[in-house]
Amino acid sequence: MEANLEKEIVLSAIQPTGTPTLGNYLGALKNWKEMSADYTCYYAVADLHSITVRPEPKDLRRRTLEMYALLLALGLDPEQNTVFVQSHVPAHAQLAWILNCYTQFGEAARMTQFKDKSEKHPENVNVGLFAYPTLMAADILLYQAHYVPIGADQKQHLEITRDIAERFNGLYGETFRIPAPFIGKAGARVMSLQDPTKKMSKSDTNVKAFISVLDDKDTIVRKIKSAVTDSEARVYYGEGKDGVNNLMGIYACCTGKTNAQIEAEFSGKGYGDFKAAVAEAVVAELAPVKEAFDRLMADKAYLNECMQKGAQKASYVAEKTLRKAMRRVGFYQL
Ligand code: ATP
Ligand code: MG
Repeated sequence: MEANLEKEIVLSAIQPTGTPTLGNYLGALKNWKEMSADYTCYYAVADLHSITVRPEPKDLRRRTLEMYALLLALGLDPEQNTVFVQSHVPAHAQLAWILNCYTQFGEAARMTQFKDKSEKHPENVNVGLFAYPTLMAADILLYQAHYVPIGADQKQHLEITRDIAERFNGLYGETFRIPAPFIGKAGARVMSLQDPTKKMSKSDTNVKAFISVLDDKDTIVRKIKSAVTDSEARVYYGEGKDGVNNLMGIYACCTGKTNAQIEAEFSGKGYGDFKAAVAEAVVAELAPVKEAFDRLMADKAYLNECMQKGAQKASYVAEKTLRKAMRRVGFYQL
């Protein structure tokens, strides 16, 4: 335990808005597992963030438990790491309010996620969606994280987190550590299988656009077979070949092969062979996760116990930072 205190701190979170996709897995979750051996890690199921899309209450409850089980299924040890549910640690919402008051309307309005999501759901552009980045900043700053393993789509949110933290530190003195993004090279941006100019999202309404980490073999094969490519029928990485580029990226992540090796492997072959190989590699990568998930979901008592412990460990650290920030701002202390 002693040595743990020396390790650098990592925080990351994932919303329980659906089953994680291959994009979440290759872009973020796979790195979470890899980092968990060398860092003190805090991993959260970001349920507070997820109500910006107003899920059915029963779906939110079920998905929160499933997402939690999935994090453990990835191989994150709940004893060694702190795996918790965001709403179980009230400090997240409390610090987010404070940070809202140190964030300019204009800078939040520039966030591309806000623009994308408001365009997609014009009927529900709520203030929570707008304030997403300040809640995300609170998630990170509460734990004094050194690194945040995220996909490329979250880079802008990490930049605003750094800006807010620097501003606050500048006004009141050192309060928050300035976090750095950790973005893996491969898999940082997995694209939709149906529209490879858009990122793969678990909240996509077209289920053919994404592969879920719990999809069975037949489903994975079918989805990859119907992935949008082009009419050239030659496997190489290039301009205007978004669909093929995306499948190559996925294949590279699952097998460790380089683009040159992949091009050589499929020279003279068509997309049929290529897609079959990609599907096989994805199935091999995800099978152990699905197996562990099924096992964990059968033991709800164990999951609840881990959640409880995770919330306690996370609260202890988060409260410390929250109290410090509140003192700095000038809230009357009892
Ligand atoms: P939603 O559509 O509800 O926002 P999402 O798929 O974007 O879902 P999040 O919970 O927002 O998932 O993000 C979890 C993590 O997965 C983040 O670190 C994010 O950067 C990463 N991520 C999301 N989509 C991709 C993708 N297509 N490729 C790589 N990483 C991704
Ligand atoms: Mg997202």
